[in-house]
Amino acid sequence: MPDYAAIKKELEGIAVEDNPALVRQKSRDFFWYSPILKAQLENVTGDLVVSPTSEEEVIHTLRVAYAHGAPVTPRGAGTGNYGQAMPLSGGIILNLAGMDKIKSIQPGKVVCEPGVIIAQLDKQTKAHSGQELRFHPSTAQTATIGGFIAGGSGGVGSITWGGLRDLGNILRLRVVTMEAEPQVLDLTGWDLQKVSHAYGTNGIITEVEMPLAPAYDWVDVLVGYDDFMDAVRFSDALSHMNGLLLKEVAPVAAPIPYDYFTRHKPYLRDRGQSVVVIMIAPHAMDPFAAFVAQQKGEILFRSDMVESMKGIPHAYELAWNHTTLRALKVDPTFTYLQVQYPSPDHVAKVGKLVEIFGDEVPGHLEFIRFDAAIQCAGLPLVRYTSEARLEEIIRIHEDNGCPIFNPHRYTLEEGGMKQTDRTQLAFKQQTDPKGLLNPGKMIAWDNPDFDFNAGKNYLFPGLAAMG
Ligand code: FAD
Repeated sequence: MPDYAAIKKELEGIAVEDNPALVRQKSRDFFWYSPILKAQLENVTGDLVVSPTSEEEVIHTLRVAYAHGAPVTPRGAGTGNYGQAMPLSGGIILNLAGMDKIKSIQPGKVVCEPGVIIAQLDKQTKAHSGQELRFHPSTAQTATIGGFIAGGSGGVGSITWGGLRDLGNILRLRVVTMEAEPQVLDLTGWDLQKVSHAYGTNGIITEVEMPLAPAYDWVDVLVGYDDFMDAVRFSDALSHMNGLLLKEVAPVAAPIPYDYFTRHKPYLRDRGQSVVVIMIAPHAMDPFAAFVAQQKGEILFRSDMVESMKGIPHAYELAWNHTTLRALKVDPTFTYLQVQYPSPDHVAKVGKLVEIFGDEVPGHLEFIRFDAAIQCAGLPLVRYTSEARLEEIIRIHEDNGCPIFNPHRYTLEEGGMKQTDRTQLAFKQQTDPKGLLNPGKMIAWDNPDFDFNAGKNYLFPGLAAMG
């Protein structure tokens, strides 16, 4: 057990918190979205929260932690859904929220520290030169840019720009390693894949350079259909319209919008209406309205037509994992899945699964650009009954050609491609030789022989100690 009192002393001058209640608070994220993770991770807590405000302080913290063999789990705002920012072996929570300086804004790009809140970043770049991030998670109001890069995948804007995995959507990352004498590395090009979506297991991001797009006063629109598959077909057709500048297209099946989009409910006719959540550039509204009329959709809500948006959330806070959040807040028995419906027959695949599950798995899709083609990812809600049934629902999706990125697992591999990411593993061998960064999240590090096809879930041995 590392000597945390000695560590605290050696970190003098840097903000350190050891009050157990406050440390526990910063040891949690949105893991409770999953009934399975909720049971597994409920008792997870760290020993110290260290809040550096500069790269020098990060380097010093890692140097001290390395010397004492103390685990370090980085944290932005803790809005991840899979326990990404939870310290499975205890140790230091490295809270990066205080590293929030924007360093430069130029045509097409911004350089900043990792702790900047995404909505703040967009506000600053818009005020500076009418620019904004290409896409952001629906948690933009609370999440940090560093946490998004290390733990997220895509979001509002991915209909045009794809995801974080796409070359060009991150320009440069500066990373501090976990060694006796930490190094600072600048990563560009393909090297970015070593640390993006690696949950901070192989380096601490201390500076990011992100590309920007022109900013607009995006119009929020809800389009209604009486049949969910009509809403899906409309969304697919809309996403293929080359001339309409879109930022968000998300069909959500009835009765979810009427039951859980409380502030928008007055605009809906009844529980039977499925809704497409859309964000579109203001200059595209006229042709868009013409397209909706041709597609026999019903425009239920337009943010540019309401008297006041006071109290009405942004459309993107109805989408992505906010859809799940809105349902969960009212009915805690809901959970969700993350599904890929590969193109070109993604709409048919959605239709098949809607037919199989009906209201047990209410549909929610996000249309995105994936490898230059339009396809949809799903975050369907699941009316949870048991772990066995959830596993069965996952299997049925996979049997129908729809891979699941399992949000009920805390490891990179099980939540992702179910295979070792050799690039990220090799980088960890170089940057974190003692395996102290966010332990338990990379199976390949702890158990190189783990068989992903054996049908068994990985259980990190370190978790047992948490009781
Ligand atoms: P955290 O949760 O604090 O951290 C995420 C991961 O990054 C952790 O593994 C952490 O250890 C690591 N990390 C944090 N900072 C650093 C750093 N500086 N260096 C190295 N590692 C670091 N995700 C999406 O991709 N798209 C969405 O649209 C989306 N919508 C969401 C909606 C809701 C309601 C919720 C609850 C979650 C959603 N998420 C989404 C997941 C999550 O909000 C985002 O990925 C978010 O960007 C994470 O940012 P954060 O600052 O909260 O990171």
